[in-house]
Amino acid sequence: MTRLILATRNPGKITELRAILAEAGLPHELVGTDAYPDVADVKETGVTFAENALLKAHSLARATGLPAVADDSGLCVDVLGGAPGIFSARWAGRHGDDEANLRLLLAQLADIADEHRAAHFACAAALALPDGTERVVEGRLPGVLRREPAGTGGFGYDPILQPEGESRTCAELTPEEKNAISHRGKAFRALVPVIRELLG
Ligand code: IMP
Repeated sequence: MTRLILATRNPGKITELRAILAEAGLPHELVGTDAYPDVADVKETGVTFAENALLKAHSLARATGLPAVADDSGLCVDVLGGAPGIFSARWAGRHGDDEANLRLLLAQLADIADEHRAAHFACAAALALPDGTERVVEGRLPGVLRREPAGTGGFGYDPILQPEGESRTCAELTPEEKNAISHRGKAFRALVPVIRELLG
């Protein structure tokens, strides 16, 4: 059985990709970065989600000798020309301060009318092999931005993104409902034929 490594220490992401591989009948064993504690994290110096996903996947494939999957994601707001984009996790200046990021974004958009509040979550998922072969795919979750946060589930910008066709925000969906429509779920599912092609 081929071992596949996912560039994450987040058990939720590993479970999500594992379920997608199993559902597709792919026999690969999926492990996270914690299985290789000596492998250093890579700096995300790319300027697109795809570049960052590829950087992380190549670095992990080189370091472990295993086929490696990595993802990079964020929120893209139409009226801001796609920002925060790759800066989503540190929009308010401090990496990972979800509340400050969300508050700053809402303040920036305070004068923007409802019909101009379109946004989407985007995710790039990359597969890299130790020999340098690479593929990258993308997934999106389109919606509109609320004026106030709603819901207690999820993370990041979930409380302000209302997916297209929904009356609830992402933070009001169950984890199963979110995974079924999420940008990451779509990108991971788009990787299935790629894994089948490159790894058999
Ligand atoms: P990462 O690529 O998973 O580390 O995500 C980068 C940042 O994008 C996160 O810190 C969040 O601010 C934002 N983000 C990505 N995916 C989601 C999501 O599904 N919900 C809410 N925020 C997200």
